[in-house]
Amino acid sequence: MEELARSIYEGLLRHTSLHYLKTMTNSKYIQDFCKLLQCNTISNGGDFATFHKVLREVFPLVHARLQKVDLSLVAGERDYTNVLLFKWEGANHDKPLVLMAHQDVVPVDEAHWDYPPFDATVVDDKVYARGAIDCKNTLFCTMMAVEELLANGELPPQDVYLSYSPNEEISGTGTQIVRDYFVSSGITPFLVVDEGGALMKADGEFIKKDLLMVGATEKGYADVKFIAKGDGGHASKPPYNTPIARIAKFVNYCENHHVFKPRCTKIARQMLYKMGDAFPFGLKLVSKTIGLTGGLVASIASGKLAGRKGAMIFKTTMAFTTTGGGKVSNAIPDEAYVTANIRFLQGDTSEKCFAKLTKLASKFDLEMQVIKFREASPVVDVNGEGYKLFESVAKQVYPQAVIAPFLMFAGTDCRHLQPIAKHAIRCTPILMTFSQLDAMHGNNENLTYTALDKCIEFFKNLIQANK
Ligand SMILES: [Zn+2]
Repeated sequence: MEELARSIYEGLLRHTSLHYLKTMTNSKYIQDFCKLLQCNTISNGGDFATFHKVLREVFPLVHARLQKVDLSLVAGERDYTNVLLFKWEGANHDKPLVLMAHQDVVPVDEAHWDYPPFDATVVDDKVYARGAIDCKNTLFCTMMAVEELLANGELPPQDVYLSYSPNEEISGTGTQIVRDYFVSSGITPFLVVDEGGALMKADGEFIKKDLLMVGATEKGYADVKFIAKGDGGHASKPPYNTPIARIAKFVNYCENHHVFKPRCTKIARQMLYKMGDAFPFGLKLVSKTIGLTGGLVASIASGKLAGRKGAMIFKTTMAFTTTGGGKVSNAIPDEAYVTANIRFLQGDTSEKCFAKLTKLASKFDLEMQVIKFREASPVVDVNGEGYKLFESVAKQVYPQAVIAPFLMFAGTDCRHLQPIAKHAIRCTPILMTFSQLDAMHGNNENLTYTALDKCIEFFKNLIQANK
């Protein structure tokens, strides 16, 4: 009987106005989402005024009922004009929730796109546009969650802030201005949620179940330059150990040795153990015994035989990125250089790593210059109140998913608010495939737009659950 009822209901969905209504629900979001995607908000030179006009049209209640925080007093010399910070006052004020995203997007190489990157072309269930997954999806879902709660006449149990920087992709000061506002106003966010991990769709190979990757920390970052100096001279009389030769030996040494030792950190263990529930049998076995075998797994996965594929999880990595030296082909340069991009593992401080590198560089008669750096961020307590709240809401909305903490290799603006917040999480719980994730910052960035519904539901539930 139940079968019959279900098939009749499904038949109705397919063939009658109920189906029409269902399609309308999705198309309501996709039309509005496209309006955001159609604005070019490339960090430098994007049209943020038009973007803000579109936001006012799509989210009228957010703009009418929330306080747009005046940042002029804390900005100082910094440009705050396009930074958006909204405050929705709740019934209580002791556990402020901050939902973050960024408005800007990275530039596009239009020749390599199948569709114009700012047209927001819908093909089947996907929308193709720059910003579709990084991260106008986050901005859209957080704002729509508030818009819909307002339309329902809801009052949040706690204060809610929406914080949207216009310059995250160029390491701009947008979120630092927001941080200064919180500090000067004596506000301690209880939980900050920013972009980061996502809900990865089971692909049947690497993961057997949908996997929600909850960003619990991010690696540190440094750009370092190594310089070799010499006397130059004519190429017909080459001396031994020229600047370029020393640079080459140094790069070769780093390529073949672990300059920074691999190890299995606590967060790597927690991440792999939990992820094991989504992995196929062999990988699951490795994950579930990681407590005993962590050190061994770290060194194998970071080694040459494994193509260093696991190095990003288990060690501070160093990649050589730019190099230069001579200007003409018949003269030995008196200087050559190589730059390295370093990602610090949790527990490896910049001080410790730079000391090691300076010593190593001097063995090859190289000087070292630090161009810029930031430390690895602290790790969120996965048994703490903030993580548990996020996890419990995610479980309600995505009961089928395995939920695991995640060590992020890339940077987010969350690092600016984490030091002043009790808990900070880097995750937008929206369904995407690995190939969609690969298109981030690349060509043909796209999102399966039906995934917006659940993500909006998640943020609505999170706001209501934060009591
Ligand atoms: Zn982003």
